[in-house]
Amino acid sequence: MTKQEKQTIKEKIKDDIKLLKAQIIDLETKVKPISPDCGLGRLTRLEAMGEQHVNNKVLDEARIRLTRLSNALQRIDKPMFGLCIECEESIGIGRMSVRPESVRCVECANNL
Ligand SMILES: [Zn+2]
Repeated sequence: MTKQEKQTIKEKIKDDIKLLKAQIIDLETKVKPISPDCGLGRLTRLEAMGEQHVNNKVLDEARIRLTRLSNALQRIDKPMFGLCIECEESIGIGRMSVRPESVRCVECANNL
């Protein structure tokens, strides 16, 4: 991985972190408990609860990804960044550009 490639990935990580933080704030307002007397009909209320369940899942995933991206940002200037933790081969710039938080190459990730 060249310095230039690392720089590009660093910018992407920072952008992704910004987006995720905004997404998390937005989701947190959506997963607040639904009060029983908020004037929704029964069906609407069930729908709202279903939606809340989905939002909670998305929120969990967003938080996990945020942690991973923060970790990636701390690793990026270290020599092992971009190397697979299993086989120590290069993960590849293609994968790192899409998922900079990756710590395993495609093969090792598939063998988990
Ligand atoms: Zn590997």
